[in-house]
Amino acid sequence: MAAEHIRHWRVGDVEIARIVEVNGWEDDITMLLPDATPEFVQQFAWLRPHFATPEGKMIISFQAFVLRSRGRTVMIDTCIGADRQREFDVFTNMKTTFLEDLAVAGFPPESVTDVLCTHLHFDHVGWNTKKVGDRWVPTFPQARYYFGRKEFEHWKFLRDTNGYHDMAHLADSIDPVIEAGLVEFIEPDFKVTDEVSLIPTPGHTPGHVSVLIESRGQSAVITGDMMHNPIQIAVPLREGRFDMDKSVAAQTRNAFVQRFNATPTLVIGSHFSEPSAGHIVADGPAWKLKTE
Ligand SMILES: [Zn+2]
Repeated sequence: MAAEHIRHWRVGDVEIARIVEVNGWEDDITMLLPDATPEFVQQFAWLRPHFATPEGKMIISFQAFVLRSRGRTVMIDTCIGADRQREFDVFTNMKTTFLEDLAVAGFPPESVTDVLCTHLHFDHVGWNTKKVGDRWVPTFPQARYYFGRKEFEHWKFLRDTNGYHDMAHLADSIDPVIEAGLVEFIEPDFKVTDEVSLIPTPGHTPGHVSVLIESRGQSAVITGDMMHNPIQIAVPLREGRFDMDKSVAAQTRNAFVQRFNATPTLVIGSHFSEPSAGHIVADGPAWKLKTE
């Protein structure tokens, strides 16, 4: 289904590939920005055709990234996964070619040495595991899996207090890799290699991180869910529906936009639909994502 959506970038010596699980999902902007309207979206002409429809709907994708750095093969998030029971029908019992697509992209699953989850929402941890018979087993049994310590502690607290509406993914996508002894709980100063480090970007979830790639004077950053659609570059302070701490998330987005505005760093959005990447540049008094 998705091999045609594979995309490659190179940042210095680092190879990056995008594996798309759900491509170009159109939804009302209120799913992301609760108080926005289609007309509000339409005023940002630069969002079309990639990130918004002419009618003012947003377009997002669900995708993962895989990096090759210093001989390691590193998954950044693992999408939604197959055979799951989820809150939304569209994500329930999905059958996709994610693992095959990884191989087509040049990264067969057995070559993955490291798995880093930017945060622990269901659509970033799914392929941590796969279903074999009636058991969930690690998809990448030879890899180290990295979860933020603070992030994991928060989800543990939510589970213990029944504090979140949708936690089915913990049992099928998180617990099995912990029980297999594959997980390392990490702090924000963790580096996968000297080319791949983390930027704490809290708010969407408490331990959320973005991933900074720096090699031979070139750089890129994978946002995670610090933002979902490039419209949030234009209005970073606007409240986002999916953010656990809306105020902290807004401050984090704003700081991110300021930091990478007018820099050569390629911004790769975890939910940005094709082409998924660009540069933050000024747009009058605000900012926009300039794609190639
Ligand atoms: Zn997400």
